[in-house]
Amino acid sequence: MSFCTAKGEIVLVFAGRLFASVTGLFALSLASAALVQPSSLKAYRFGGSKYISITEVAAYYGLGRDVRGVVDRAEYKTSFAQLELQADRRDILLNGVNHWLSAPILVARGRLWIAELDVLKTLDPVLRPERLRSGPQVRTIVLDPGHGGSDRGTRGRSSREKELTLDLAKRVERDLAASGMHVVLTRASDKTVPLENRVGFVRAKGADLFVSLHFNSGGPASGIETYCAPPAGADSTANTGSDDREATPNNRFDEQNVWLAQCVQKTLSRATGAVDRGVRRARFYVLRYANCPAILVEAGFLSSPPEEQRILRTDYRELLAKAIADGILTYKKTMEAP
Ligand SMILES: [Zn+2]
Repeated sequence: MSFCTAKGEIVLVFAGRLFASVTGLFALSLASAALVQPSSLKAYRFGGSKYISITEVAAYYGLGRDVRGVVDRAEYKTSFAQLELQADRRDILLNGVNHWLSAPILVARGRLWIAELDVLKTLDPVLRPERLRSGPQVRTIVLDPGHGGSDRGTRGRSSREKELTLDLAKRVERDLAASGMHVVLTRASDKTVPLENRVGFVRAKGADLFVSLHFNSGGPASGIETYCAPPAGADSTANTGSDDREATPNNRFDEQNVWLAQCVQKTLSRATGAVDRGVRRARFYVLRYANCPAILVEAGFLSSPPEEQRILRTDYRELLAKAIADGILTYKKTMEAP
């Protein structure tokens, strides 16, 4: 990858504004830390984008020392955090979940660098979710069983997506209602619901969260992935070159979106043992326009015969439902913690 010469520190204002609130917190742990923790991060311009050195990011978040000791990979692990990344790749491992970044990890000047946007919109919300606490209760959730009616979604050898998403949504609804949440489904039967009506529900019900449920298809792939909207200016994960990178109404929930996606993707991959295909970014209609934190879960591939067989089992769908509900409740707890 090509890059320009680093052009000096440009981030002091940015560092002061966005990170000042935690400087004191980190200062408290300095005494026991083996490494010096900086109180701000410095971004450098490479090509058209701003990047921050991984070494500095690790020091800032108190992630300890890189255990790999090679130029093209880095691995950090402490009792509270984990970060693994590799040069030229957009996927990283962050606290037990794969995440797809807006730009590949850069190797330059003998160091690894991560885009500033990815520090702000992926690393920070996942490493410090307590900063997202908003006060009001997370009470009403809109669950969206994908497809329905004349829109059948994808299909496996002996399954239809629209039926399985409805089944799964009802199980998640039952589990969340049992925990005291107010749950609204965008459809409770096999009917066609236009996408604008699905996000319309979010506004009409004053929802605090939106979770759309789907099953996947595609080649020999298997596993689970969770989507949220990319931040403004970032490509989607499967960039086809035609991406519209402009801000969407949902972008004001960027940090909550990724934390919700992290919670749900983590409980899902742990509970099922399915391949963790990661937290991905796409400007799906329902993610663009939901006016609350929103994710879209692809809970497995109907095109993979072994995975389809698992999904067709009631006990496996129970497992999926419980994991999704647990992830949502973890999110709720973080947001409401005193
Ligand atoms: Zn679908």
